[in-house]
Amino acid sequence: MKINYTLHTHTVGFDGRNTAEDMVQTAISRGFNTIGFSNHFIVHPNIKKSKMYYYAVNGKYSNIYSDDVEFTIDLFGNHYENVRQLQQKYPDINILCGMEMDFFKYHGWEDKMRYAIRQLRPDYIIGAMHFIDLGDEILNIHDIKNAGNPGTGRLLREYYQNLIRLAGFDWRETGFKFNWLAHFDLPQKVGLSCPDMEVAAIQALRKNSVPIELNTSLIKNPRYHLNPAAMGEIKNMPVVISDDAHGIGRIGADFDEVFDMSVRAGVKNICTTSQNLYKFVNIRNR
Ligand SMILES: [Zn+2]
Ligand SMILES: [Zn+2]
Repeated sequence: MKINYTLHTHTVGFDGRNTAEDMVQTAISRGFNTIGFSNHFIVHPNIKKSKMYYYAVNGKYSNIYSDDVEFTIDLFGNHYENVRQLQQKYPDINILCGMEMDFFKYHGWEDKMRYAIRQLRPDYIIGAMHFIDLGDEILNIHDIKNAGNPGTGRLLREYYQNLIRLAGFDWRETGFKFNWLAHFDLPQKVGLSCPDMEVAAIQALRKNSVPIELNTSLIKNPRYHLNPAAMGEIKNMPVVISDDAHGIGRIGADFDEVFDMSVRAGVKNICTTSQNLYKFVNIRNR
């Protein structure tokens, strides 16, 4: 195996299908040296008014959409406690407590996140943009797709504009920083691509020294199209390959294939070993 860590994973209690312990055992059996958990940290006062929330209630994963930061802190606090116990039980693998945090532009978001991070002290934060924040309502990529013409095109550009704003966001005042950005081309999951904006987003990330993820779950999606211009832009950036595993079946899946594909596309700076995560994405060395 070419990569010995997996840091973008989800568990039961959030929107994953397996327990953290099942995930740890699978990671060990597949030869990983490090596994980290990065459940969704999504807090917005109006998120429960959005269409996606009802799907989440039906699918029994509505915990991930919160309008109350204290609720989410509790959820993560219990989860992290369980993960730390697993570290005692499985000393041969490094187990990290992370989160995949969505960025919002509403007033007060920064303060809430700063507070949550002080309480929880995660090992790392993956930045993510799954939504467009319209204030009263939050749209996800399915809503963008379903908007129809010309709405879809306009919303798609707005999605990438937000990503560019996120890339340039000044984290100094908040005392934390995303370790890297997840799936910069997420809209491709529903077949929406916007090559010029994908390139613009990567340029903004590079300019602001934000490392980037190549997401095997997304790249192996039948709707995904490799954007050679985007891959060209990623060439010299620090890159983390992630499986975004929402179940044990995806842990480490397609890592080698996506690694080889990226190298062929000219990407040079891929983190392959957990020992180098400090250098690549500032995760503390363990
Ligand atoms: Zn998820
Ligand atoms: Zn994600």
